[in-house]
Amino acid sequence: MSDITRRRFLGDSLLAAKATWLGTAFLPEFVNAEEQSRPLYKSSYHVIDAHAHCGAPHEDSVPAQLDVMSRTGIDKFVVLLFDTAGWEYPGGWSEANVVGWSKLLRKHPEQLIVFGTMGFDRVTEPAFFQDIVRKLDWQAGLGVQGIKMWKNLGMHVRDASGELLKIDDPRLDPYWAKCGELGLPVLIHSADPRRYWTEALKDRKPRIHQPWMPSWEELIRQRDAILKRHPDTTFIGAHFGSMSSDLPRLAETLDAYPNFHVDCASRLRFMAALSPETVREFFAKYQDRILFGTDTFVPYVDRVLNSPEKLAQWKDLRSRQYAWYLEYFETDHQGLAEPLPGSKLVLSGAKLPPDVLEKFYHANAEKLIPGLNTVEAVESRNRPKANRDHERTAVA
Ligand SMILES: [Zn+2]
Repeated sequence: MSDITRRRFLGDSLLAAKATWLGTAFLPEFVNAEEQSRPLYKSSYHVIDAHAHCGAPHEDSVPAQLDVMSRTGIDKFVVLLFDTAGWEYPGGWSEANVVGWSKLLRKHPEQLIVFGTMGFDRVTEPAFFQDIVRKLDWQAGLGVQGIKMWKNLGMHVRDASGELLKIDDPRLDPYWAKCGELGLPVLIHSADPRRYWTEALKDRKPRIHQPWMPSWEELIRQRDAILKRHPDTTFIGAHFGSMSSDLPRLAETLDAYPNFHVDCASRLRFMAALSPETVREFFAKYQDRILFGTDTFVPYVDRVLNSPEKLAQWKDLRSRQYAWYLEYFETDHQGLAEPLPGSKLVLSGAKLPPDVLEKFYHANAEKLIPGLNTVEAVESRNRPKANRDHERTAVA
């Protein structure tokens, strides 16, 4: 066990993210004075954030995000459009948003990767299940390099009969198969950590896990059924495949399904329960199967983007969050604080070996996401970074 004594698990990171990007809370409220005065950690590795969120495309979003990335040493990021259908979270899905993001993609081809999604706006219409493959083709034509599916599939989306649409509903099979044919990885967030089903999570507003929802076991069964049925499609389980608190079970799943990978987005707080040795061992064993991702939001709200003060605060917070991930994975520093509102979480750095970091930070993403291993991409990756000494860099 770790030497961590203070721990407080927050609600879903999206709630925190939402509070942030809406401009209701910024750095001073999120990060204590001690943390604010620490130099910002910057990576000298080539790093791809394979899990970032967005809303409507905005000309100023990407430059703001790139500024944060250059402060912390992140080179590329994947924005995930996703349809939150019914839940009150911000999602990036609409056909117009896919078009808008594809335009931004052409403007920032070296830094931006866009994942589309299956929109559920017409899920109760008879044509829905015929149209999803056609719409996938359309998105691929616009340059999306993967697909994001959110946990509302299985937990919230209902078909015309009023029943919850299961992740392994056979009517969705042609879609998963087509993702495989097109070489588009599916970043799938199914269920959540198991504890969310059993704990009274007072902080969670709105309460996500309702008694009428399927059990954790059932949702994992549904997800695993599509992993099995579609061996030629690459699936990336967001948030350690919702098994961050049960690494033996995650190991079993990775062993059973070679087409399954995971990312670490928003789950460092679960790493706090593990010793750095345990984390290192797991990452070493599954070094070809884990991707770096953060779950942060790209700014797109006018009142943030149009306010120099709010934008500066947003950048400071995001830089802090990126630095926290990097410092955790690259060093054995003690007492690392989680830059989220109210968090008292403290972590001890896992200090992964350099060869494992290279795969985790970029090589695995480059293997799975089409277009990342072109000559141009490799050249840009090999370009020297401003900071090669793996040292902390003060905030400019
Ligand atoms: Zn996410």
